[in-house]
Amino acid sequence: MQHLVDTNDFSDTQIAQLLHDAKSFKAQRPQQLLHDKLLITLFFEASTRTRSSFEVAAKRLGASVVHLDPSRSSAKKGESLEDTFANLCAMEPDGIIVRHSENATPKLLADMQTSPVINAGAGNYAHPTQALLDLFTMVEHFGGDVKGKTIAIVGDIVSSRVASSGIRLMTRMGMNVLLVAPEQFMPNSDLPQYKNLEDVIDKVDVIMSLRAQLERHEKELFEDYADYASQYCITKERMRNRDILLLHPGPVMRNIDISDEMLEDPRCKVLTQVKNGVFIRMAILKLLLLDS
Ligand code: ASP
Repeated sequence: MQHLVDTNDFSDTQIAQLLHDAKSFKAQRPQQLLHDKLLITLFFEASTRTRSSFEVAAKRLGASVVHLDPSRSSAKKGESLEDTFANLCAMEPDGIIVRHSENATPKLLADMQTSPVINAGAGNYAHPTQALLDLFTMVEHFGGDVKGKTIAIVGDIVSSRVASSGIRLMTRMGMNVLLVAPEQFMPNSDLPQYKNLEDVIDKVDVIMSLRAQLERHEKELFEDYADYASQYCITKERMRNRDILLLHPGPVMRNIDISDEMLEDPRCKVLTQVKNGVFIRMAILKLLLLDS
């Protein structure tokens, strides 16, 4: 039984296969490869893009999707996570897509070996489908290989599962990853660390901007996010005419993470990431439900 807890669950060959399948799904709408499959989504945290992207991906491939809303489920009556999961597994779905605030949850559920588990974001540790869609977007943009390309991750890196999954995948793919953040947002890491974007902007091919993960902060880290924005918001003045690909996993805090003007700029690929998210998730579902 294959799960997706983090991207290291996939071999290099499987990652190449995912990029290949996503590209061909984008070029041509595929057949209903998963017409006899049924997926359950179990999201204990809010989601706009990831949940709907999984649903669209599943339905584009002909699969059915059932959503369980934990805020209206027996989790509210005190049922444990493991029991809720075991009960869903008893209905014999072909996979369960899980989002949870605890880093360990997807692995814990995968270890029960009762259904393939697909991690749709867990704590501050892993968001593998986001990492894979970001990789797909970069591979597409650079026309093939991302090896040797330099990316600056800017923002609340310490609390971001997009950053942690992304760092593991991008370094594995041979990218140079630079971390740009104020002290409050900087993780313990061996990667090069910078306080000022100006110090690295001339050497990067990609900037990934991140939202302050307020829901994960135990105390207020900035009194005023305008101060943060004055140094880290990606604006046209900062970007000038440099040929840099600008990514953000969403939701974007406008004029804190990225300015209104830069969001309209063709170098900003936020909506391309969302579009590509569907194709990469189609490829992931195919791999987990059909090819494994
Ligand atoms: N949507 C992403 C996540 O679930 C990024 C974010 O929320 O800032 O981690």
